[in-house]
Amino acid sequence: MKIFVVNAGSSSLKYQLIDMDNESVLAKGLCERIGVTGAISHKSADGREYKAETPMPTHSEAFEAVVYAMMKSEAKVIDSFEEISAIGHRIVQGGAIFKGSCLVNDKVIEQISELGAMAPLHNPAHVIAIKACTETFGKKIPQVVVFDTSFHQTMPPKAYMYALPYDYYKRLDVRKYGAHGTSHHFVSDRVALLENKDKKDIKIITCHLGNGCSITAIKDGACVDTSMGFTPLDGFMMGTRSGSLDPSALTYIAEKDNLSAADINRICNKESGMLGISGVSNDNRDIAAAAESGNSRAALAIEMQRYQILKFIGSYIAAMNGVDAIAFTGGIGENDPELREYVCDNLKYMGVEIDREANKCRGKEVKISTAASGVDVFVIPTNEELAIARDTLSIISK
Ligand code: ADP
Repeated sequence: MKIFVVNAGSSSLKYQLIDMDNESVLAKGLCERIGVTGAISHKSADGREYKAETPMPTHSEAFEAVVYAMMKSEAKVIDSFEEISAIGHRIVQGGAIFKGSCLVNDKVIEQISELGAMAPLHNPAHVIAIKACTETFGKKIPQVVVFDTSFHQTMPPKAYMYALPYDYYKRLDVRKYGAHGTSHHFVSDRVALLENKDKKDIKIITCHLGNGCSITAIKDGACVDTSMGFTPLDGFMMGTRSGSLDPSALTYIAEKDNLSAADINRICNKESGMLGISGVSNDNRDIAAAAESGNSRAALAIEMQRYQILKFIGSYIAAMNGVDAIAFTGGIGENDPELREYVCDNLKYMGVEIDREANKCRGKEVKISTAASGVDVFVIPTNEELAIARDTLSIISK
């Protein structure tokens, strides 16, 4: 059984075709510059490649290019799209409406569209992609939506409410929703499996550290708190996002420099974080190289990032009254032994003991704590596409 996983942005479209019989990726690819020019790069599991520049005025032409790549190109992997059993879409914002994944119908499309007010860069693109998929693949192939937010829907009100006048919650749905839920779900399931325990019996902290970063506390098998908030801007500093800060600093800057709400949004989302502090890049590798050659702002960015991550983990240990396992994932979490060592060394008081040799790993699933450690620490490569495919399969099997 083959599942087609779609991750659509406003001008891009990432996809994977996954064979669920053995959960292997048959092909993956990316369409870029949709609405501007259009280009596809597609790769089959056995290493064949297809690349083309082709006009993509809308997502429909992008899906047509994907169909060509999968069925006709030199990197083809299927003969007909009837081989595809279902399509799974990643959706960024499911608000308080979607507590789990579900089949697409007209009402669901309308609700995702309405939630676009809270995710203007993402939800409208997802709706366009769902409709373009129906156009390209027809109505016979079921489509499932999997939300970045739904794993966090188990948070109690004391964790998701903001201490603003209550009216903003009631009238405008302003509260914490979190993000990266698919990844936190996948990684925490993996931790439970590696621990050989029921998820209900362990307290887990999952750290998804990539360009976007979030940390989640999981207790009794469910998310009890997460660092991202109303939008993915909240939490701790990321590639280009500021993370949380005193809102008065923003109103002060806006007044001093005569900036609009949109300006502030842009500054906090695109010009802050590791990029804003280092002035070098949003990429940790560039920043580490700059710090090594003596750039003090790059060194400060790294110091701040590690400190903020440590503080979040500490706060979630307090929130859960302990922790049994900590997992690192995402480009940084999987590839930065020094960051992991810093965090673990600062949790020594809790009995965390890191195995320095094991911690040298990059991009592999490894237990990096010693046998004597009071808390198990893992590196677990995330796989959001597989998680979406699994959810899609489970929904269509019902
Ligand atoms: P996204 O959130 O866009 O999916 P990723 O999970 O790919 O991002 O993470 C990107 C971050 O991971 C970058 O800051 C990058 O420097 C870092 N990263 C990726 N590979 C490595 C590596 N081998 N060593 C150190 N950092 C890495």
